Amino acid sequence: MKLPIYMDNHATTRIDPRVLDAMMPWLTENYGNAASRSHGFGWAAEQAVETARAQVARLIGATAKEIVFTSGATESNNLAITGAVQAHTGAQSGPRHVITQATEHKAVLDTCAWLEKNGSEKTGLEKGCRVTVLPVDGEGRVRIDDLRAAMDREKPVLVTILAANNEIGTLQPIDEIGALCHERGVLFHTDAAQAVGKIPVDVNRSNIDLLSISGHKIYGPKGIGALYVRRRNPRVQLAEQMHGGGHERGLRSGTLNVPGIVGLGAACEIAGAEMESESVRLAALRDRLQAKLEAGLEHLRVNGSQQHRLPGNLNMTFAGVDSETLMMGAKDVALSSGSACTSAKIEPSHVLRALGLDEEAAHSSIRFGLGRFNTEEEVDYVAERLIDVVKKLRDLSPEYASYT
Ligand SMILES: *Cc1c(COP(=O)(O)O)cnc(C)c1O
Repeated sequence: MKLPIYMDNHATTRIDPRVLDAMMPWLTENYGNAASRSHGFGWAAEQAVETARAQVARLIGATAKEIVFTSGATESNNLAITGAVQAHTGAQSGPRHVITQATEHKAVLDTCAWLEKNGSEKTGLEKGCRVTVLPVDGEGRVRIDDLRAAMDREKPVLVTILAANNEIGTLQPIDEIGALCHERGVLFHTDAAQAVGKIPVDVNRSNIDLLSISGHKIYGPKGIGALYVRRRNPRVQLAEQMHGGGHERGLRSGTLNVPGIVGLGAACEIAGAEMESESVRLAALRDRLQAKLEAGLEHLRVNGSQQHRLPGNLNMTFAGVDSETLMMGAKDVALSSGSACTSAKIEPSHVLRALGLDEEAAHSSIRFGLGRFNTEEEVDYVAERLIDVVKKLRDLSPEYASYT
């Protein structure tokens, strides 16, 4: 077993060697611009892009024409949300309404906040935009009744709710959300960066109109992603956010990242073929890790839902232990804490806070992200290592004394 061990697969994943193999020719001898129509270099690149487009589409039950390549899920979220709100042409007496929820990735929350804050001048929306951020239950799921009530108060242009959370792995009830949006004639966008390739996602079954994908979360390269844009029933209109040569049906100008696109296509193809067996293997590894930690330590709690959860995710609070100190004590394991470093100070995770954890509990939480390349041996090592460090830290902790 090689150290350090990488167990932070929600932050990013190692590129699959098969993905790299597929990309290599497009980084070396096949360097054509996919928009060059006058020679074979361009034709070959265009064909590779179209193959990848079909591979991405197949994984989510879409058609190839509905896939727009972007630089990643952050860009896809921006294009989906701002693009849909700006393109909305329906009669509007007041500001346009967008509904989202508290545990979204910042790429969604900050985009919504930007639309709301900048009123009409920068967004081009005459009457501005109003955002409703729904709360979540103790497992991190939105309640359909809350969504329905928010829709009743004011019909939204768009509902944007992620499919799987990147910190606690909680799966949102996207089938129900999609059905409700469809019934009301409201667009439904989902940030599926953590869900696609990990759990089955089908845009038609779930009535999804817009869906964001990221390459580097599914063993593909960084800096590539896609946005699914429904073309039928309804045909979704978006205002472009990047102006230029009119690439990607005018929705996303810029020379296509051919090697990245080929890599994303290959990553989707592999995920489609292996997802079923991989999720069984990862869930078993995750359960093994949880069981070992629980056998070796008291006062642990699992954050999020035990039932509706990504197979590779485990987020735990270790009472009385500061997660940054814990990770410092286990430097040969790459994990992530329930905190985010914003400019100057360490802020507790907005996701854990939304679940109802207090600041101290949020600062005592660790995210384990298991992925394709983790082994049982690594899980056993990580469990032993954490048990050892947590015990030592608790022996020194006056706060922990209050638990015992
Ligand atoms: C990683 C991630 C993003 C951002 O994706 P990039 O491709 O890195 O821009 C957005 N949403 C979720 C849920 C993510 O996990």
